[in-house]
Amino acid sequence: MISLFDLFKIGIGPSSSHTVGPMRAARRFIAHLNPTLPVARLRVTLYGSLAWTASGHATDKAVILGLAGEAPESVNPDAADDIVHQIGIDRRLFVHGHPVAFDPAFDIVLDRETIPPIHPNTLQFEALAGDGMVVDTARFCSVGGGFIVPEDATKQASYAQPDMPLDFTSGTELLDRTCQSGLTVAGVVLANESALRPQTEIAVYLDLIIETMMACVERGLVQHGTLPGRIKVRRRAAALHERLTERARLNQRPPHEAMDWVSLFAIAVNEENAAGGRVVTAPTNGAAGVIPAVLRYYRDFCPDASRAGMHDFLLTAAAVGGLFKLNASISGAEVGCQGEVGVASSMAAAGLAAALGATPLQIENAAEIGMEHHLGMTCDPVAGLVQIPCIERNAFGAVKAINAASLAMHGDGAHHVSLDQVIRTMAETGRDMNHRYKETALGGLAVNFPEC
Ligand code: SF4
Repeated sequence: MISLFDLFKIGIGPSSSHTVGPMRAARRFIAHLNPTLPVARLRVTLYGSLAWTASGHATDKAVILGLAGEAPESVNPDAADDIVHQIGIDRRLFVHGHPVAFDPAFDIVLDRETIPPIHPNTLQFEALAGDGMVVDTARFCSVGGGFIVPEDATKQASYAQPDMPLDFTSGTELLDRTCQSGLTVAGVVLANESALRPQTEIAVYLDLIIETMMACVERGLVQHGTLPGRIKVRRRAAALHERLTERARLNQRPPHEAMDWVSLFAIAVNEENAAGGRVVTAPTNGAAGVIPAVLRYYRDFCPDASRAGMHDFLLTAAAVGGLFKLNASISGAEVGCQGEVGVASSMAAAGLAAALGATPLQIENAAEIGMEHHLGMTCDPVAGLVQIPCIERNAFGAVKAINAASLAMHGDGAHHVSLDQVIRTMAETGRDMNHRYKETALGGLAVNFPEC
């Protein structure tokens, strides 16, 4: 099982694989750099999808922040641009207290020709001496959801935690564990997490994730103006919030009112993400709005909602997200948007079903439905920005998740396509997908939308 501490990470937008992962990789390279080496200059090369969407996904900014020692979970989003700007002016940064030349305009190389051998999100760091000789180098793959792996270890990389008492690596095994133990899905995950750390620590972390998600919704609801990037997308969550609030005040409540609010919550989070704000990677940043929107729907619209129910929601969602990570991918660059918004929707469907008291079979069914109707969904971000179609797509992923949970709970858990089969199908569909639809901004809406 993959730990929920790895699946739900606090970071900054706009992308987990293109912002959070590269920042962590850069920081790790600097941390492991031998201080006795005669380093005079640093150079970073981005390959594949990272090179194609570098500035739209803020990969360049993330790399600079990571080299400067910043971490996604602790960097102040409001100060990040100033740090990057200053390094651009100074053309240097400090490594182990010593100044080292680094001109982002020249020392971040976008290599769009070389096809990286292992993973489409690959980046290389080089430390150079004064004579230009490379004195240290490292290559990492950013494999989705903020996970990074040294390139030479990517094939053997294991994200699962060892020695869990009720370990599972498939949906079938997860259901078996619930039968054997008599626990719910959330109970199985909690038992496994408890083998790694005290339950109080787990509860504190779950609360931190909930608070960070809700704070992101709140902040997104009051922000106006346009999002960064050349297409100047206008933020709309604040205006939509005002409209919905006014409509409720006048008691003009259409039957689909809850869906409008769910869409609003997702849009608020994803506008924050697009603006480089603080979000929870769930399981990626591009898809960061789905789970908070459905969690907020549970909190605000479902009778008997409770904090314990929210914990069950996240524990169950983590179980499902881990299965996708282990057996397929949560990287848009590997499998398209089905691996981002599709996985988030599947996780949210399972989480909501759990919070509403579904059986393990119904939860597995909800997760399966949540993904089945995202199969084949491509990634084609306009101008390489995590904005169109990403922001609205999160709203649809959230609404579909609620629909999936509801459909599953109207049944008895029996169904034809299993979660494991749909995960396998998603992985195969992703492998067959043309690379233009895998976070390169070379196909789909990204080329058919006139930028003017
Ligand atoms: S289209 Fe989907 S996978 Fe692609 S950047 Fe947007 S949210 Fe991420």
